[in-house]
Amino acid sequence: MKLKPKLAMYWAASCGGCEVSLLNVGEKILMVDRVFDIVFFPCIADFKYKDVEALSDDHIDLCLFNGAIRSSENQELAELLRRKSRLLVAYGSCAHEGCIPALSNLTTAADTLEAVFVSNFSTANPGGVVPRTTTRVPEGDLALPLLYDTVRALDQIVRVDYYIPGCPPEPPRIWEALEVFVDAFVGGAELPAVGSVLGATDLALCEECPLERNEKRVPRFFRPHEIVPDPKVCLLEQGIVCSGPATRGGCGALCPRAGMGCRGCYGLLQGVVDQGAGMVAAVAAVLGVGSPQEEESAIEQTIERATSSIVDPAGTFYRHSLAHSLLRRRRPSITPNEADEGS
Ligand code: SF4
Ligand code: SF4
Repeated sequence: MKLKPKLAMYWAASCGGCEVSLLNVGEKILMVDRVFDIVFFPCIADFKYKDVEALSDDHIDLCLFNGAIRSSENQELAELLRRKSRLLVAYGSCAHEGCIPALSNLTTAADTLEAVFVSNFSTANPGGVVPRTTTRVPEGDLALPLLYDTVRALDQIVRVDYYIPGCPPEPPRIWEALEVFVDAFVGGAELPAVGSVLGATDLALCEECPLERNEKRVPRFFRPHEIVPDPKVCLLEQGIVCSGPATRGGCGALCPRAGMGCRGCYGLLQGVVDQGAGMVAAVAAVLGVGSPQEEESAIEQTIERATSSIVDPAGTFYRHSLAHSLLRRRRPSITPNEADEGS
């Protein structure tokens, strides 16, 4: 009997939505089971790391790796699964571009631990105890992974063969991407060029958005609760920040169809280096402020007022792509953790 190709799925720093998205392919999950032999998928069954360590190199045919790299454990598993996998796929926005976890690149690991475990409204921690990499107890030393200051995308740690974007990827597009592998493994079809983005288009999200664009200018921006948008008109042209112009299509413009600006989870467009910078340009293009007759200082003030209506610009424009952006992180003085990472 012909052996089935081996499939693995692993989550690093992520929310778990990517695992759920795979299960959301509905009855096609039975096809996944029929075609693949699942050898590692800790979210659904009790696989151990030592099971993976025991495999020969390249034993796994296809590894769907979701989650960003924010700890020494994430990095070890990325390196281990790279070694054990013939094809490694960055699955979902965290593995692709860092996504929400990478927003902590605006701070440090120490400040993140402090905010989570000490200074927040729902935690009573008078001793200020935060996780440590080593804790001595009577039975011996307990160890925890090191939390890095800088969150990275998967391809900033290991070589990646393919990308399936989205937060999480949309089920129909996941199946479309998986079919590429099924056709290759079972039918002998040729695989796409290494580095390809699967389950997405090469066009901007605006191209698949049904909302009408009229090249209208706006004097300021609104948060979603401040305005009831016209459901037929482009959100950006109504003063709602929407990352559609700088985002790869593929989801079917789900968020704009529901009156919410796109946050860019399908990632940067082909040939665009920095998604946030692309968004700043798109926002500037709809901002109708100033005229040649006005004093420069008056124009500056109007621009200042208009841009200050965008709350949290870094978290808006780089919501999903900070790890991969030109900025990558807030510039810190080198901290002890960063020195430990050797970066
Ligand atoms: Fe649609 Fe947003 Fe593009 Fe406007 S900017 S067309 S709402 S995706
Ligand atoms: Fe992601 Fe934007 Fe699509 Fe919403 S509209 S699912 S944020 S790519």
